[in-house]
Order: sequence, then structure tokens, then C-alpha cells
Amino acid sequence: AETWDIVPQAPPDSIFKLTAAYQADPYPQKVNLGVGAYRDDDNKPWVLPVVRKASHILLSDPTLHHEYLPITGLPEFVSGAARLILGDDSPALADDRVASVQTISGTGANHLAALFLSKYYQFDGERVVYLSDPTWVNHFAIFENVGIKQRTYPYYDSKTIGLDFDGFLAALQSAPGRSVFLVHACAHNPTGVDPTEEQWETIAQAFIAKKHYAIFDSAYQGFASGDLDRDAKAIRYFVRRGVPMLVCQSFAKNAGLYGERVGALHLIAPNKETATRVRSQLSVLQRSEISNPPSYGARVIALILGNPELFEEWKADIRTMADRIIDMRKRLHSLLTNELRTPGNWDHIVNQIGMFSFTGISTAQSKALIDDAHVYLTSNGRISMAGLNSKNLRYFAEALDRVVR
Ligand code: PMP
Repeated sequence: AETWDIVPQAPPDSIFKLTAAYQADPYPQKVNLGVGAYRDDDNKPWVLPVVRKASHILLSDPTLHHEYLPITGLPEFVSGAARLILGDDSPALADDRVASVQTISGTGANHLAALFLSKYYQFDGERVVYLSDPTWVNHFAIFENVGIKQRTYPYYDSKTIGLDFDGFLAALQSAPGRSVFLVHACAHNPTGVDPTEEQWETIAQAFIAKKHYAIFDSAYQGFASGDLDRDAKAIRYFVRRGVPMLVCQSFAKNAGLYGERVGALHLIAPNKETATRVRSQLSVLQRSEISNPPSYGARVIALILGNPELFEEWKADIRTMADRIIDMRKRLHSLLTNELRTPGNWDHIVNQIGMFSFTGISTAQSKALIDDAHVYLTSNGRISMAGLNSKNLRYFAEALDRVVR
């Protein structure tokens, strides 16, 4: 027998498979709604004008070098990122009790958070994290890799194509005290369904009552509503209420820096002394994992965050992306409801938020969209709003109308 005989062949990543099938399809009107990245109205990747500008400034600086960053990242980036997500008036920042580390985008932040919890969180019973049903599929593997089991809590209600708020709340209340719950800060992936502000307040109350620990995954700040502060509201509310928590932050979507891997992990500690100890151990873990985080994207973001003019430009660019997505939602809703009179209620299309939308169609209907209309989407009926544009919207609406009739 050979050494690697025991290695089983892994199935291909389902999104990768979908993209490959889309690319191989010669049909001229084909539509890719599996894509997890923003596209402009011509279905092209979009470099934010402010990012282009910041890049030019950086690259024309003759003193710029390629030395290692500190283990915990570019200091201006890390502090700016913390202020961006926690708010200028954050009580935790005022108390200097946030341990922040630059990470390999949001995935790296989730991983470092999971690793840190696996080493230092005092699980009362089972080492388990509660994930929303459904969630970003990578969450399962990230916690599995560090030896933390995963359980799901009710989140999406297929009957209402909305939030199963009662189920979520009941899970928080019935889990053992001091359980770890991962929640999406905004623009829940894959459903596009978020709690309302009032519901977040009730959720925070349940965290406090059971002394649960919160992991906030923030991959879409600004991208959801078009407003950076609004999309951080739940996080800031939890900090004000004193829920023990950490935040995983990504700049992939809101700055269009997908491949540059810009992110941060922020652990909100009860006091400065604890934050200092936590930071020292995050640094130790980071050293063995990646030694030092990548510099380019962090420099771009640090420049934008540190310059009021560039910051205003960034906010406008974010609105450009969010507004286009919101516009696509409105137009799709109107086409289905007013024009095609497609059977069923489609209000969820405009009630959902962010890159993704759960359409509520079945696996068979999703498959029919691919096979009959060359519209590529995941089998759970999730569509990426970023894949829709003024040229393919009607084609998609008519195809959707056909499969649900
Ligand atoms: N969390 C969620 C919920 C996401 O949707 C994503 C991106 N799809 C990420 C984390 C991480 O993305 P990245 O590593 O590119 O920042």
C-alpha cells in the first residue's frame, strides 16, 4: 500500500463547480447568480475608484517597502478598522479594552477566533459553537478544524421566507449557560434575512440572561444598507449592553478587496488588563499560523480611513454598490409582482438585504432554472443579486416566472 492511499478524493467545492458549468455554457444569455462578489451593470468586477486612488498614492511613494508588518498587523489599519466597526464613540475603545489583530480577511478572522476560543474559552460542558441554520458553509469546517463541534440554531423560516425569530430565541434560552453563538452582523449569508433592531434587543437580552458568548461575523458592513454605521448597529448595541463578544471583520466586499485578504479580529474584553493578555496570546497564535499578515490591502484601507476626503469617497463608492443591489431588488420585485403576476408573494425580495437572496424556490425549480434557462444558482434557491443587471433582469424574471408556474 502507498502512504497516501488513505486520502479520499474530496468532492469539488459546489460554488466552484457551478462557476465552471456557467463558464463552459456557450448560451449567450446565460446568467451567473452563484457569484459571491459584486459586479457592475456590465457584469464586470468593479475596482472602487477610491481604492484605485489610494493605490496610486501608495505606489508613487518612493519610501514604500516590502518589509514584514508587525505580527498583529499594520497599527494604523488595526486601530482604524476597530473604530470603523465599533464606532468613534465606542465605550470599549474609550476604555482601551479591545484586543485587535489584522487577519487574512474574514475567513482568517473566523479561524483565529475559533482557534483562540478552542484554546482559552472555558466551555462549561461540550465544546460546541451554535451556528445559524443555514449559515455560510465555511463556518462548519472552520470550527471543525480546531476541534469545536457545531450545532445549528433555527434561523430561517421557509414558510415565511423570513426570520424564525421564536425558534432563534428559544434556542438561545434553552442552550446551556455560557454557550458560544455565532451571529451575522448584517446581510445574513445565505438568506439575506436579518433581525430587526427591536429583535436584536431581545436577542441581546437573551445573551445576557444566559451569559452566552457572541461571535459577530461582519462580512458586509456598508454593503448591506449603503451606510457603514447602520450595518454596525447590532454590534455596537451588544457592546453597549456588555455582552461578552468578539468581531470578525472583512473588507472583501465593502472595499472590493477580495483577493487582497484584508480583515481583522476584535475581542472586546471586560478591561484593559485582560485585553492586553488576550492580545499577547492572539499574537502568539498568529505567529505560528501566518507569522505576519499581508501589507498591501491593509495599507490601502489605512490610507482611506485616515484621510477624511478619501473616506467620504469610499462611502460614496459603497453607496454605489449598495444602491445598485437595492435597485435590482426593487425592479425584480416589481417585474414579478406587477408585470408578470408571478404566482406567490415576492415581498421577501425587497425585505431581504445584502448580496444574497433566498428566493424560496425548491431544489427542483433551481435545477430547472439551470437546465432550461441557463441561469446558474445554488440548489438551495439562493441568488446573488450582484449577478443581476439592467440587461439580464427581465430574462431572469421571466425564467423564474416559468419555473414557479
Ligand atoms: N463570513 C461570511 C458570512 C461571508 O459571507 C464571507 C464571505 N463570503 C466571509 C465570512 C469571509 O470572506 P473573506 O474571507 O473573503 O473576507
